[in-house]
Amino acid sequence: MQDTVKERQHRAASVAVALGEDYPELREAVRRVCAGFPSAYWRRLDEERGYPTEFIRALTEGGFLAALIPEDYGGSGLPLRAGAIILEEINASGCTASAAHAQMYIMGTLLRHGSPEQKQRFLPRIASGELRLQAFGVSEPASGSDTTSLTTRAERQGDHYVVTGQKIWTSRAMHSDLMLLLARTTPRDSVKKRTEGLSVFLAELPGSSGKGVEIRPIRTLLNHNTTEVFFDGFRIPAANLIGEEGQGLRYILDGMNAERILVASECVGDGRWLLNRAVDYARERQVFARPIGQNQGVQFPLARIHAELEAADMMCRRAAALFEAGANCGADANIAKLLASEATWHAAEAAMQTFGGFGFAQEYDVERKWREARIYQVAPVSTNLILAHIAQHVLGLPRSY
Ligand SMILES: Cc1cc2nc3c(=O)[nH]c(=O)nc-3n(C[C@H](O)[C@H](O)[C@H](O)COP(=O)(O)OP(=O)(O)OC[C@H]3O[C@@H](n4cnc5c(N)ncnc54)[C@H](O)[C@@H]3O)c2cc1C
Repeated sequence: MQDTVKERQHRAASVAVALGEDYPELREAVRRVCAGFPSAYWRRLDEERGYPTEFIRALTEGGFLAALIPEDYGGSGLPLRAGAIILEEINASGCTASAAHAQMYIMGTLLRHGSPEQKQRFLPRIASGELRLQAFGVSEPASGSDTTSLTTRAERQGDHYVVTGQKIWTSRAMHSDLMLLLARTTPRDSVKKRTEGLSVFLAELPGSSGKGVEIRPIRTLLNHNTTEVFFDGFRIPAANLIGEEGQGLRYILDGMNAERILVASECVGDGRWLLNRAVDYARERQVFARPIGQNQGVQFPLARIHAELEAADMMCRRAAALFEAGANCGADANIAKLLASEATWHAAEAAMQTFGGFGFAQEYDVERKWREARIYQVAPVSTNLILAHIAQHVLGLPRSY
């Protein structure tokens, strides 16, 4: 259905959005956990390309990673906005939310489309931290943004599916017990629509090494624990198929709005951290016998970023409110992600510039956050694909791909 500007305005009219610091106690609780993980911790992990196991444990013990799991399954059953705030506050505290974010947005597929047995089997153990659901296997080397052309095959053989193919950029696969895996169960040339014939599975990774799964780390610009995963005859029990065979892409797309909103909020957190660091430095750093922040060339970019972050934050709140109201929030979620990823990148650039040479020194953490901030315009969805969504679904322009 065409989501016109007029329709969006009409839908938004009846949804309330909280202004100011919503969920103050939750924010404070996240900040308290983060205070135990100072910059030196993240710097060391960055150096070693390590995974923040202790941080994830602390978040799990505090119940933060189970925020979106219903109470019946051991979580706190909070709305999406609460999850967004957790991620925002983690990054605003100088920690790195991406190590934990997938669990929040992958969860939706299991929550909405999993069978009661699957939910009972997995959710309480995810809530308790016994199982980590942090890996999301969609991207492939050849398919790129064109998800429907992915070629990893899952063939039904008795009570199992046998998986063969390759995923790339599967972040945290070495630190996750479960991977939400999208694979083709019917060849593309045998389905009516290219969106059909893909299925989604909960792949259990422990013990899979040498049994049809090989995971290789990819060293990247930032410490994201990303990997490539090779499947060669990996057997997944049919009981781990989520929903109906062939409908997997629909289930994944269903979770995209939540993903966009959560990641956008994470961006806002990083942007705030970067801006605060830059403002503090601009106040303190004396050059030509006055603070550098007295120069308009230094303060105007920072003022502009404050405005950009406020706008992005409002779009995050609005998209989350529409999501909670059960309204179609596709356009809002995409706009939130677009604005937040760009505001954060601008904050990163301005922070580097404000710190001058010291921005390049690792001990100030600005260069690390600058590297981390760059990812949001590429993953989990690239800016062009968001613009294509807005052009097509909001402005009604012809589909461009
Ligand atoms: C660090 C990192 C972590 C990641 N983690 C995960 C993960 O956990 N799980 C997972 O499944 N994936 C993950 N990804 C993959 C990520 O989602 C993709 O990189 C992203 O979706 C873009 O796909 P691509 O890299 O294949 O780029 P391509 O699709 O090859 O696109 C390259 C460029 O061309 C542009 N482009 C392509 N088609 C069009 C078009 N029709 N119109 C306009 N522009 C176009 C894109 O916007 C992009 O700028 C990760 C990537 C990185 C770098």
